[in-house]
Amino acid sequence: MLRLPKFEVAEPTSVAEATALLKAHDGRAKPMAGGTDLMPNMKHEIATPDVVVGLWRIPDLVGVRRDGDTLRIGALTTLHDLARDPLILEHAPALAEAVDQVAGPQLRRMGTIGGNVCLDTRCVYINQTYFWRSALGFCLKRDGTVCHVVKGGRRCVAAASNDSAPVLMTLGAELEIHNADGARKVAIDDFYTTDGIFNQERAADDLVTAIEVPIPKPGTVMAYAKLRTRAAIDFPELGVAVLARLAGGKGGKIEHVDVCVTALASRPVRVKLDLDALRGRTLDAATIDQIANAAYKRCKPLKNIATEPAYRREMVPVFVRRGFRQALGRS
Ligand SMILES: Cc1cc2nc3c(=O)[nH]c(=O)nc-3n(C[C@H](O)[C@H](O)[C@H](O)COP(=O)(O)OP(=O)(O)OC[C@H]3O[C@@H](n4cnc5c(N)ncnc54)[C@H](O)[C@@H]3O)c2cc1C
Ligand code: SF4
Repeated sequence: MLRLPKFEVAEPTSVAEATALLKAHDGRAKPMAGGTDLMPNMKHEIATPDVVVGLWRIPDLVGVRRDGDTLRIGALTTLHDLARDPLILEHAPALAEAVDQVAGPQLRRMGTIGGNVCLDTRCVYINQTYFWRSALGFCLKRDGTVCHVVKGGRRCVAAASNDSAPVLMTLGAELEIHNADGARKVAIDDFYTTDGIFNQERAADDLVTAIEVPIPKPGTVMAYAKLRTRAAIDFPELGVAVLARLAGGKGGKIEHVDVCVTALASRPVRVKLDLDALRGRTLDAATIDQIANAAYKRCKPLKNIATEPAYRREMVPVFVRRGFRQALGRS
């Protein structure tokens, strides 16, 4: 049995109190929402905060509402509730699809969207017990000086593994972040970095309080397609979010198209597409094949998770096609 190390728990009842606590502990405290990522990482001694700042007593952070042309999602909204929210199902069905495939039902009732956005990166050599890691000699992400994935590598390439992130990128979401000095908004694209040790532009006293999603224009179709070993519980081995805006809806000419891929690198990646060439075409099988091939060229998985990189790469175009089929089927 794995035991938790000793730590204190603080239970603030407001964002101001929570950010003041995080600031006062100067990097030695961590926020905790559902704890479904933080607790295992503490048991594995990957995260070792002296103080856990529980967010569960801050009621303002729960729920989804519409503010004009934007959906505002409170960071403490559980994945279970988000997947069933009528506003999300109507305007951002791919987000519902993604969060409904996170882990299993129990974890989705505890896990929150804020915790999912802020999920730590994962790697086959780090998500192990302290004893296991000590036997191997540790690595750059925690306690060591080498990378076991890229021999001689000086950078950690642990994989971004949060299912919501690529969908939020295709939706053009912004994060509302509070700290003791005030609030700011950050485009989700700019929030993630390529540093697998910590892949977020988030200071120790920053709290993600909400996610704002612009309501997609009429004619937008979207989906999330996920590759995982067991559909019941596993993290993504590959996650593909697709979105297209079609003039007049299904069968109409492409106005905009976007594909973001996750679980291959330390941040979710946007596939570079020749939008000028795609605009004005219909989203038919030939066009989807072209987009799928562009994704294949862009994605070069590493051996950072257990499944073979070559297999995951072959699955990229398959899941791009599957994503567009899901999106068009729904519309
Ligand atoms: C068996 C298992 C399977 C899983 N499968 C998946 C999967 O398939 N896909 C997937 O995406 N995830 C998966 N997870 C991870 C996790 O359950 C989800 O990502 C969940 O959404 C995390 O939310 P949480 O509220 O529990 O986060 P927490 O564990 O509370 O927090 C996660 C991280 O974010 C920080 N944090 C939390 N909230 C905030 C905030 N508001 N502002 C700033 N920082 C914050 C914490 O300090 C911590 O570092 C799995 C976990 C387990 C144990
Ligand atoms: S990618 Fe390398 S440094 Fe990062 S967690 Fe894996 S083995 Fe460690």
